[in-house]
Amino acid sequence: MAPKKKGKGKKGPPSSGWMPGFGTKGTMTTYFQYPTPELQEELRKIAQAIVAPGKGILAADESTGTMGKRLQDIGVENTEENRRKYRQLLFSTDPAISENISGVILFHETLYQKADDGTPLVGLLEKRGIIPGIKVDKGVVPLFGSEDECTTQGLDDLAQRCAQYKKDGCHFAKWRCVLKIGRNTPSYQAIQENATVLARYASICQSQRIVPIVEPEVLPDGEHDLDRAQKVTETVLAAVYKALNDHHVYLEGTLLKPNMVTAGQSCKKTYTASDIGRATVTALLRTVPAAVPGVTFLSGGQSEEEASVNLNAINTVEIKRPWSLTFSYGRALQASVLRAWGGKQENVLAGQIELLNRAKANGQASQGKYVAGSVTGASGDSGLFVANHAY
Ligand code: 13P
Repeated sequence: MAPKKKGKGKKGPPSSGWMPGFGTKGTMTTYFQYPTPELQEELRKIAQAIVAPGKGILAADESTGTMGKRLQDIGVENTEENRRKYRQLLFSTDPAISENISGVILFHETLYQKADDGTPLVGLLEKRGIIPGIKVDKGVVPLFGSEDECTTQGLDDLAQRCAQYKKDGCHFAKWRCVLKIGRNTPSYQAIQENATVLARYASICQSQRIVPIVEPEVLPDGEHDLDRAQKVTETVLAAVYKALNDHHVYLEGTLLKPNMVTAGQSCKKTYTASDIGRATVTALLRTVPAAVPGVTFLSGGQSEEEASVNLNAINTVEIKRPWSLTFSYGRALQASVLRAWGGKQENVLAGQIELLNRAKANGQASQGKYVAGSVTGASGDSGLFVANHAY
Protein backbone atom coordinates (compact mmCIF):
# COMPACT_ATOMS: atom_id res chain seq x y z
CA MET A 1 0.00 0.00 0.00
CA ALA A 2 1.30 3.46 -0.86
CA PRO A 3 2.25 5.47 2.25
CA LYS A 4 -0.32 8.05 3.25
CA LYS A 5 0.62 11.59 2.35
CA LYS A 6 0.80 13.25 5.72
CA GLY A 7 -1.45 16.20 6.36
CA LYS A 8 -2.21 16.85 2.70
CA GLY A 9 -5.28 18.96 2.33
CA LYS A 10 -5.94 18.48 6.02
CA LYS A 11 -7.30 21.32 8.12
CA GLY A 12 -6.66 21.67 11.86
CA PRO A 13 -3.52 21.79 13.98
CA PRO A 14 -0.25 20.90 12.23
CA SER A 15 1.95 18.12 13.59
CA SER A 16 3.72 18.66 16.91
CA GLY A 17 6.62 21.08 17.03
CA TRP A 18 4.79 23.74 15.06
CA MET A 19 3.19 26.67 16.72
CA PRO A 20 -0.54 26.76 16.05
CA GLY A 21 -2.00 29.74 14.31
CA PHE A 22 0.82 30.56 11.92
CA GLY A 23 -0.38 28.65 8.83
CA THR A 24 1.79 26.22 6.91
CA LYS A 25 3.70 28.86 4.96
CA GLY A 26 6.02 30.97 7.10
CA THR A 27 5.35 28.62 9.96
CA MET A 28 7.20 29.31 13.18
CA THR A 29 8.94 26.23 14.48
CA THR A 30 9.52 25.61 18.15
CA TYR A 31 12.03 22.85 17.52
CA PHE A 32 15.38 23.58 19.13
CA GLN A 33 17.86 22.04 21.49
CA TYR A 34 19.02 23.34 24.83
CA PRO A 35 22.78 23.16 25.45
CA THR A 36 23.87 19.81 26.90
CA PRO A 37 23.48 19.54 30.69
CA GLU A 38 27.29 19.77 31.06
CA LEU A 39 27.46 22.99 29.07
CA GLN A 40 24.52 24.44 30.99
CA GLU A 41 26.26 23.68 34.25
CA GLU A 42 29.55 25.18 33.11
CA LEU A 43 27.90 28.41 31.96
CA ARG A 44 25.71 28.67 35.05
CA LYS A 45 28.66 28.24 37.40
CA ILE A 46 30.73 30.93 35.68
CA ALA A 47 27.83 33.40 35.73
CA GLN A 48 27.06 32.70 39.38
CA ALA A 49 30.70 33.06 40.44
CA ILE A 50 30.85 36.49 38.81
CA VAL A 51 27.83 37.75 40.73
CA ALA A 52 28.66 36.08 44.07
CA PRO A 53 27.60 38.25 47.05
CA GLY A 54 29.67 41.42 47.45
CA LYS A 55 31.48 40.96 44.14
CA GLY A 56 31.44 42.63 40.74
CA ILE A 57 33.46 43.26 37.61
CA LEU A 58 36.31 45.61 36.77
CA ALA A 59 35.88 46.67 33.13
CA ALA A 60 39.46 47.25 31.94
CA ASP A 61 38.77 46.60 28.27
CA GLU A 62 39.17 50.12 26.95
CA SER A 63 40.14 50.02 23.29
CA THR A 64 43.50 51.54 22.36
CA GLY A 65 41.84 54.84 21.41
CA THR A 66 39.78 55.10 24.60
CA MET A 67 42.77 54.18 26.75
CA GLY A 68 44.62 56.97 24.96
CA LYS A 69 42.07 59.49 26.23
CA ARG A 70 42.38 58.20 29.80
CA LEU A 71 46.19 58.37 29.65
CA GLN A 72 46.15 61.79 28.02
CA ASP A 73 44.13 63.10 30.99
CA ILE A 74 47.05 62.25 33.29
CA GLY A 75 49.78 63.31 30.87
CA VAL A 76 50.92 59.82 29.90
CA GLU A 77 51.70 58.84 26.33
CA ASN A 78 49.48 56.17 24.75
CA THR A 79 52.10 53.51 23.99
CA GLU A 80 51.74 49.75 24.24
CA GLU A 81 54.29 49.79 27.07
CA ASN A 82 52.34 52.39 29.09
CA ARG A 83 49.10 50.48 28.59
CA ARG A 84 50.88 47.33 29.79
CA LYS A 85 52.28 49.10 32.85
CA TYR A 86 48.86 50.44 33.74
CA ARG A 87 47.11 47.09 33.42
CA GLN A 88 49.94 45.48 35.40
CA LEU A 89 49.25 47.99 38.18
CA LEU A 90 45.56 47.01 38.21
CA PHE A 91 46.09 43.25 38.16
CA SER A 92 48.93 43.12 40.68
CA THR A 93 46.85 44.85 43.35
CA ASP A 94 46.84 43.12 46.76
CA PRO A 95 45.00 39.77 46.50
CA ALA A 96 42.38 41.17 48.91
CA ILE A 97 40.94 42.76 45.76
CA SER A 98 39.32 39.42 44.99
CA GLU A 99 36.95 39.92 47.93
CA ASN A 100 35.14 42.45 45.75
CA ILE A 101 36.28 41.82 42.18
CA SER A 102 35.24 38.48 40.70
CA GLY A 103 35.99 39.19 37.04
CA VAL A 104 38.00 41.54 34.85
CA ILE A 105 37.12 42.37 31.24
CA LEU A 106 40.24 42.54 29.09
CA PHE A 107 41.02 44.10 25.73
CA HIS A 108 42.60 41.70 23.20
CA GLU A 109 46.03 43.30 23.50
CA THR A 110 46.10 42.89 27.30
CA LEU A 111 45.33 39.18 27.15
CA TYR A 112 48.69 38.58 25.48
CA GLN A 113 50.83 41.01 27.51
CA LYS A 114 53.21 40.03 30.30
CA ALA A 115 54.17 41.52 33.65
CA ASP A 116 57.74 42.74 34.24
CA ASP A 117 58.73 39.29 35.57
CA GLY A 118 57.34 37.50 32.51
CA THR A 119 54.07 36.28 34.09
CA PRO A 120 51.21 36.71 31.62
CA LEU A 121 48.96 39.51 32.91
CA VAL A 122 46.06 37.09 32.79
CA GLY A 123 48.03 34.82 35.15
CA LEU A 124 48.00 37.60 37.77
CA LEU A 125 44.21 37.49 37.70
CA GLU A 126 44.07 33.71 37.84
CA LYS A 127 46.43 33.69 40.83
CA ARG A 128 43.98 35.95 42.63
CA GLY A 129 40.99 33.77 41.77
CA ILE A 130 39.62 36.45 39.45
CA ILE A 131 37.90 35.24 36.27
CA PRO A 132 39.30 36.71 33.04
CA GLY A 133 36.80 37.98 30.48
CA ILE A 134 37.23 39.54 27.06
CA LYS A 135 35.65 42.30 24.98
CA VAL A 136 34.71 40.64 21.68
CA ASP A 137 32.80 43.32 19.80
CA LYS A 138 34.60 45.37 17.17
CA GLY A 139 32.98 48.69 17.93
CA VAL A 140 29.95 50.60 16.72
CA VAL A 141 29.07 51.49 13.12
CA PRO A 142 26.35 53.82 11.80
CA LEU A 143 22.90 52.56 10.83
CA PHE A 144 22.27 54.08 7.43
CA GLY A 145 19.01 55.99 7.22
CA SER A 146 18.74 56.47 10.96
CA GLU A 147 19.13 59.63 13.03
CA ASP A 148 22.75 59.07 13.99
CA GLU A 149 22.03 55.65 15.50
CA CYS A 150 24.35 52.67 15.44
CA THR A 151 24.80 48.93 15.65
CA THR A 152 27.82 46.93 16.78
CA GLN A 153 29.99 44.81 14.50
CA GLY A 154 32.16 41.73 15.03
CA LEU A 155 29.99 38.64 14.42
CA ASP A 156 31.76 37.22 11.34
CA ASP A 157 34.67 35.40 12.98
CA LEU A 158 33.25 35.43 16.50
CA ALA A 159 33.01 31.66 16.99
CA GLN A 160 36.69 31.13 16.10
CA ARG A 161 37.80 34.04 18.28
CA CYS A 162 35.73 32.75 21.23
CA ALA A 163 37.20 29.26 20.84
CA GLN A 164 40.71 30.74 21.01
CA TYR A 165 39.88 33.05 23.92
CA LYS A 166 38.49 30.11 25.89
CA LYS A 167 41.74 28.21 25.34
CA ASP A 168 43.65 31.30 26.44
CA GLY A 169 41.78 31.48 29.75
CA CYS A 170 38.71 33.70 29.21
CA HIS A 171 35.39 32.43 30.53
CA PHE A 172 33.09 35.34 29.82
CA ALA A 173 32.74 38.02 27.16
CA LYS A 174 31.32 41.46 26.66
CA TRP A 175 29.61 42.99 23.64
CA ARG A 176 28.41 46.59 23.90
CA CYS A 177 25.50 47.98 21.91
CA VAL A 178 24.49 51.62 22.12
CA LEU A 179 21.02 53.18 22.01
CA LYS A 180 20.44 56.93 21.98
CA ILE A 181 17.52 58.88 23.39
CA GLY A 182 16.29 61.69 21.16
CA ARG A 183 12.94 62.98 19.97
CA ASN A 184 12.61 60.11 17.47
CA THR A 185 15.11 57.69 18.92
CA PRO A 186 15.79 54.95 19.73
CA SER A 187 14.04 53.90 16.53
CA TYR A 188 12.42 50.55 15.82
CA GLN A 189 15.32 49.88 13.42
CA ALA A 190 17.95 50.44 16.12
CA ILE A 191 16.06 48.57 18.85
CA GLN A 192 15.47 45.49 16.67
CA GLU A 193 18.92 45.42 15.09
CA ASN A 194 20.78 45.80 18.39
CA ALA A 195 18.61 43.19 20.13
CA THR A 196 19.24 40.71 17.32
CA VAL A 197 22.98 41.27 17.16
CA LEU A 198 23.22 40.83 20.95
CA ALA A 199 21.28 37.57 20.70
CA ARG A 200 23.52 36.22 17.92
CA TYR A 201 26.59 37.20 19.94
CA ALA A 202 25.21 35.52 23.07
CA SER A 203 24.36 32.34 21.23
CA ILE A 204 27.81 32.11 19.62
CA CYS A 205 29.55 32.70 22.98
CA GLN A 206 27.56 29.94 24.64
CA SER A 207 28.40 27.53 21.82
CA GLN A 208 32.07 28.10 22.75
CA ARG A 209 31.56 27.72 26.54
CA ILE A 210 31.80 31.43 27.21
CA VAL A 211 29.26 33.36 29.30
CA PRO A 212 27.98 36.35 27.33
CA ILE A 213 27.50 39.65 29.10
CA VAL A 214 24.71 41.29 27.17
CA GLU A 215 25.18 45.07 27.14
CA PRO A 216 22.51 47.26 25.59
CA GLU A 217 23.61 50.68 26.84
CA VAL A 218 21.07 53.47 26.66
CA LEU A 219 23.32 56.55 26.66
CA PRO A 220 22.74 59.30 29.24
CA ASP A 221 23.21 62.08 26.65
CA GLY A 222 20.19 64.38 26.40
CA GLU A 223 17.64 66.48 28.27
CA HIS A 224 15.13 63.69 28.86
CA ASP A 225 13.72 63.09 32.32
CA LEU A 226 13.78 59.96 34.45
CA ASP A 227 10.41 58.68 33.18
CA ARG A 228 11.55 58.79 29.58
CA ALA A 229 14.82 57.03 30.44
CA GLN A 230 12.85 54.34 32.26
CA LYS A 231 10.40 53.75 29.41
CA VAL A 232 13.18 53.60 26.81
CA THR A 233 15.18 51.18 28.97
CA GLU A 234 12.09 48.97 29.38
CA THR A 235 11.42 48.96 25.62
CA VAL A 236 15.04 48.13 24.81
CA LEU A 237 15.30 45.36 27.42
CA ALA A 238 11.98 43.81 26.36
CA ALA A 239 13.29 43.58 22.77
CA VAL A 240 16.60 42.13 23.95
CA TYR A 241 14.94 39.34 25.97
CA LYS A 242 12.57 38.52 23.09
CA ALA A 243 15.60 38.17 20.79
CA LEU A 244 17.53 36.07 23.33
CA ASN A 245 14.52 33.77 23.58
CA ASP A 246 14.20 33.58 19.78
CA HIS A 247 17.87 32.52 19.61
CA HIS A 248 17.45 29.88 22.37
CA VAL A 249 20.01 31.58 24.57
CA TYR A 250 20.34 29.81 27.92
CA LEU A 251 19.53 32.67 30.28
CA GLU A 252 20.97 31.07 33.42
CA GLY A 253 24.33 31.24 31.67
CA THR A 254 24.19 34.95 30.81
CA LEU A 255 24.57 38.26 32.60
CA LEU A 256 22.98 41.60 31.73
CA LYS A 257 25.01 44.81 31.71
CA PRO A 258 22.56 47.70 31.44
CA ASN A 259 22.64 51.39 32.17
CA MET A 260 21.09 52.47 35.43
CA VAL A 261 17.93 54.43 34.76
CA THR A 262 19.01 58.05 35.22
CA ALA A 263 17.72 61.30 33.73
CA GLY A 264 19.64 62.76 30.76
CA GLN A 265 22.87 64.60 31.57
CA SER A 266 21.25 67.92 30.54
CA CYS A 267 17.91 67.34 32.26
CA LYS A 268 16.83 70.34 34.36
CA LYS A 269 15.05 68.27 37.03
CA THR A 270 17.04 66.64 39.81
CA TYR A 271 16.36 63.21 41.22
CA THR A 272 17.47 61.44 44.36
CA ALA A 273 19.37 58.17 44.46
CA SER A 274 16.22 56.44 45.65
CA ASP A 275 14.29 57.81 42.62
CA ILE A 276 17.02 56.27 40.44
CA GLY A 277 16.95 53.03 42.41
CA ARG A 278 13.18 52.72 42.07
CA ALA A 279 13.13 53.55 38.34
CA THR A 280 15.96 51.11 37.64
CA VAL A 281 14.59 48.15 39.57
CA THR A 282 11.08 48.74 38.20
CA ALA A 283 12.39 48.73 34.62
CA LEU A 284 14.32 45.51 35.22
CA LEU A 285 11.45 43.81 37.01
CA ARG A 286 9.17 44.48 34.05
CA THR A 287 11.56 43.06 31.45
CA VAL A 288 14.38 40.85 32.76
CA PRO A 289 13.45 37.21 33.44
CA ALA A 290 14.20 35.92 36.94
CA ALA A 291 16.24 33.13 35.32
CA VAL A 292 19.02 35.66 34.67
CA PRO A 293 21.45 35.26 37.59
CA GLY A 294 22.78 38.78 37.72
CA VAL A 295 22.79 42.32 36.47
CA THR A 296 26.15 44.10 36.38
CA PHE A 297 25.60 47.80 35.76
CA LEU A 298 27.91 50.01 33.75
CA SER A 299 28.76 53.35 35.35
CA GLY A 300 27.98 55.42 32.25
CA GLY A 301 29.74 58.67 33.19
CA GLN A 302 28.56 58.85 36.80
CA SER A 303 31.20 59.95 39.28
CA GLU A 304 32.75 57.24 41.43
CA GLU A 305 30.66 58.30 44.41
CA GLU A 306 27.40 58.56 42.42
CA ALA A 307 27.94 55.09 40.98
CA SER A 308 28.36 53.65 44.49
CA VAL A 309 25.45 55.59 46.00
CA ASN A 310 23.09 54.72 43.15
CA LEU A 311 24.04 51.03 43.22
CA ASN A 312 23.39 51.07 46.95
CA ALA A 313 19.96 52.65 46.37
CA ILE A 314 19.17 49.96 43.80
CA ASN A 315 19.93 47.36 46.44
CA THR A 316 17.87 48.96 49.19
CA VAL A 317 14.69 49.94 47.32
CA GLU A 318 11.66 48.03 48.57
CA ILE A 319 10.84 46.24 45.34
CA LYS A 320 11.51 42.57 44.79
CA ARG A 321 14.85 41.80 43.22
CA PRO A 322 15.21 38.22 41.96
CA TRP A 323 18.75 38.74 40.60
CA SER A 324 22.10 39.90 42.03
CA LEU A 325 22.49 43.58 41.26
CA THR A 326 26.13 44.57 41.12
CA PHE A 327 28.73 46.53 39.17
CA SER A 328 30.81 46.21 36.03
CA TYR A 329 32.41 49.61 36.11
CA GLY A 330 35.10 51.09 33.93
CA ARG A 331 35.37 54.81 34.64
CA ALA A 332 33.85 54.64 38.15
CA LEU A 333 36.49 52.14 39.31
CA GLN A 334 39.49 53.67 37.59
CA ALA A 335 39.25 57.47 37.72
CA SER A 336 40.99 57.75 41.10
CA VAL A 337 43.48 55.00 40.26
CA LEU A 338 44.63 56.86 37.16
CA ARG A 339 44.86 60.17 39.02
CA ALA A 340 46.84 58.70 41.94
CA TRP A 341 49.20 56.82 39.61
CA GLY A 342 49.89 59.61 37.11
CA GLY A 343 52.19 57.28 35.18
CA LYS A 344 54.83 57.23 37.95
CA GLN A 345 56.42 54.03 39.24
CA GLU A 346 56.56 55.41 42.80
CA ASN A 347 52.76 55.88 42.77
CA VAL A 348 51.83 52.33 41.80
CA LEU A 349 50.86 51.40 45.34
CA ALA A 350 48.81 54.61 45.76
CA GLY A 351 46.89 53.67 42.60
CA GLN A 352 46.29 50.15 43.85
CA ILE A 353 44.96 51.45 47.17
CA GLU A 354 42.44 53.56 45.27
CA LEU A 355 41.29 50.45 43.40
CA LEU A 356 40.95 48.45 46.62
CA ASN A 357 38.93 51.24 48.23
CA ARG A 358 36.55 51.78 45.34
CA ALA A 359 36.05 48.06 44.80
CA LYS A 360 35.19 47.71 48.48
CA ALA A 361 32.71 50.61 48.30
CA ASN A 362 30.97 49.01 45.34
CA GLY A 363 31.04 45.57 46.94
CA GLN A 364 29.20 47.10 49.89
CA ALA A 365 26.80 48.92 47.57
CA SER A 366 25.97 45.65 45.82
CA GLN A 367 24.70 44.45 49.19
CA GLY A 368 22.96 47.69 50.15
CA LYS A 369 25.59 48.42 52.80
CA TYR A 370 27.45 51.44 51.42
CA VAL A 371 27.38 54.58 53.53
CA ALA A 372 27.45 57.63 51.24
CA GLY A 373 30.70 59.57 51.51
CA SER A 374 32.49 56.86 53.50
CA VAL A 375 35.02 56.14 50.75
CA THR A 376 36.75 59.05 49.06
CA GLY A 377 39.32 59.00 46.27
CA ALA A 378 41.85 61.04 44.33
CA SER A 379 39.34 61.91 41.61
CA GLY A 380 36.92 63.26 44.25
CA ASP A 381 33.31 63.38 43.15
CA SER A 382 34.12 64.68 39.68
CA GLY A 383 31.76 63.71 36.87
CA LEU A 384 33.11 61.23 34.34
CA PHE A 385 30.58 61.92 31.60
CA VAL A 386 31.86 61.79 28.03
CA ALA A 387 29.42 62.89 25.31
CA ASN A 388 28.42 60.15 22.87
CA HIS A 389 30.74 57.76 24.69
CA ALA A 390 32.64 55.19 22.65
CA TYR A 391 34.49 52.40 24.39
P1 13P B 1 31.75 52.60 32.23
O1 13P B 1 31.54 51.99 33.59
O2 13P B 1 32.91 53.53 32.16
O3 13P B 1 30.48 53.17 31.66
O4 13P B 1 32.15 51.42 31.25
C1 13P B 1 31.79 50.14 31.49
C2 13P B 1 31.84 49.38 30.22
O5 13P B 1 32.41 48.30 30.18
C3 13P B 1 31.16 49.91 29.03
O6 13P B 1 31.12 48.97 28.02
